Amino acid sequence: MQHLPIERRERLLEKCIASYGEAFKKFEKKVRPTILSHADAWVTEQGDLPFQIFDLNQGNSLRNKLTVLQNNNLPGSSKVELENPNFFFFDFLDPASMPGANLSAAFEAASRTILLRKVNLPNMLDCAVMYHELVHVGQDTAERATIRNEDDFNQYLRSKQHFRGEKPRIRIAYEVTAYALEIEALNAVLAGAIRDTVLRKKNLMNVLTRGLQLRKEQLSMLPLLTKFSTAYFCSSDIGHFARVVHESYAQVYDCI
Ligand SMILES: [Zn+2]
Repeated sequence: MQHLPIERRERLLEKCIASYGEAFKKFEKKVRPTILSHADAWVTEQGDLPFQIFDLNQGNSLRNKLTVLQNNNLPGSSKVELENPNFFFFDFLDPASMPGANLSAAFEAASRTILLRKVNLPNMLDCAVMYHELVHVGQDTAERATIRNEDDFNQYLRSKQHFRGEKPRIRIAYEVTAYALEIEALNAVLAGAIRDTVLRKKNLMNVLTRGLQLRKEQLSMLPLLTKFSTAYFCSSDIGHFARVVHESYAQVYDCI
């Protein structure tokens, strides 16, 4: 898509943001009531934040990153000041830049950008991944709130960078939280079927494939999702789940 003129890409991104927005409203309808009535107060509090963050950003007239780039002609966007510290940008995910990773979305903290995969009709898993990325937006907002001066900011930026030959750095506690909430959300989408299936030791992969009506390229996300969901629901010890997430991430990332 990089070969298209920026005005054209901007319009395509606008459409993409709108279709994710529409799908996310349906997702919210299914998930939010379950999250809000969850027996675990942590899930209720933390799990509602992504919806609040998404709603707040609807008021961000600069949410389309390509509008910003076009108007400011900036080589990067980390310099663009957002009027509200809760705001963030959307841009397209370039699957070519992440070989092997069939992600629906990703969050780039240094530029506060949620990167979206260009799909015609985002499904419930796309929405759950965006929900996960919205958790990261909230974590980044909290982290940035501790920045007091330019030195702090430079240190913050350095913590998000990695150099050639280095593994990308990741805050594992952020991933544990984001995955726990993503799994709670998917469990809500499937009316509790993920938890039931794990507790009855039945085949979760089948339940996810059928229940979520996944696209072909999303099937590669299933082994990890199955592994994390099983670890999350099979034990009441959150430490067990955290260790499983850590082990998986440590293969590819430098976990801090
Ligand atoms: Zn994540």
